[in-house]
Amino acid sequence: MRALQYVAPGQPPEVREVPTPTPTGGQVLIKVLAAGACHSDEFLMGLPSEALSMPLPLTLGHEGVGVVVELGPDASGVEVGEEVAVYGGWGCGRCRTCTTGAEQYCERASELGIRPPGLGNPGAMAEYLLVDDARHLVPLQGLDPVAAAPLTDAGLTPYHAIKPVLPTLVPGTTAVVIGAGGLGHLGIQMLKALSSSRIVALDLGEDKLAFAREVGADHAFTSDDSAIEAVREVTGGRMADAVLDFVGMQASTALAARMVHAQSEIVVVGVGDGAVPVGMLTLPYNVRVRAPYWGTIPELHEVLALARSGAIRVETETFSLDDAPTIYERMHARTLRGRAVVVP
Ligand code: NAD
Ligand code: ZN
Ligand code: ZN
Repeated sequence: MRALQYVAPGQPPEVREVPTPTPTGGQVLIKVLAAGACHSDEFLMGLPSEALSMPLPLTLGHEGVGVVVELGPDASGVEVGEEVAVYGGWGCGRCRTCTTGAEQYCERASELGIRPPGLGNPGAMAEYLLVDDARHLVPLQGLDPVAAAPLTDAGLTPYHAIKPVLPTLVPGTTAVVIGAGGLGHLGIQMLKALSSSRIVALDLGEDKLAFAREVGADHAFTSDDSAIEAVREVTGGRMADAVLDFVGMQASTALAARMVHAQSEIVVVGVGDGAVPVGMLTLPYNVRVRAPYWGTIPELHEVLALARSGAIRVETETFSLDDAPTIYERMHARTLRGRAVVVP
């Protein structure tokens, strides 16, 4: 089969011929219908070889949707022909944390060498994907595969980040979303659907700001120092109750820290060199700062249900497997709109 592989540090990914896997034990083989491209792929391909914690070549893609084609001898719970979304935050399934469905925080994953597809295990940007266990498959139940693939990360991750803040986002409050890309454009729609907050988006470039408004931001401002005054003005001086940073670089985390008031929440989702120092002299009183990772299996069910209800819509640009390497050039140039999805 063909697969998009990251072969050598510093080199762009390549489409290569690799053996089609056969499911053993409890594994399930799916034929990939769609695989989303995440900025985290670009991040890992930008790491120097000594910082890369996974073996190469690596088949990319941790947002996958497909149809079940073969079950290992011990697999059960799914049927051949069923269309499924792949939950990628694989864990052991048995530790205390995994039993709550938060397998992305598995207590034993590193000890057992368990890694997500596309982030250590062969990923979904291929004709077939081997899934370790049927419990990591969630039925699509009528969702379009291309629109559903990004929901497994670009949808699930903002949902997991936003859900705990929702009780505070009552009428009169403000949520700031930094970065209206793959994750951010869904984060904005989730805030719109699930809270009564005013939504302010920050990004770079008029096209991105227009896109943020199209998907539901009440205001969109350029992500620089001028945004502080802009947020002060639209909030009548109150500033943000929650800041969701889908960039995670120093520039964005520094802005986040200057946009909150006492008891607000800062959620750093983007992966980068940014940080929010917590201390009595660095932030307003009692600001909570979190850096969550991915989402839980129950939350993936909720995100798919939210999409089925029509409350969130994934903006996608589709690419063939052969054209997949160009996705990362476009991502780097910041010319993608919403999520790029590979249709093998
Ligand atoms: P993306 O490339 O689709 O979107 C990034 C957006 O941020 C773009 O619209 C870009 O114009 C904008 N941007 C860049 N610099 C900015 C700045 N200084 N201020 C405001 N906007 C800026 O990326 P994505 O796939 O949505 O991923 C977003 C981030 O989230 C990445 O860092 C990715 O690695 C990370 N991520 C984290 C998790 C997690 O579990 N925590 C999961 C998935 C992705
Ligand atoms: Zn991702
Ligand atoms: Zn576990």
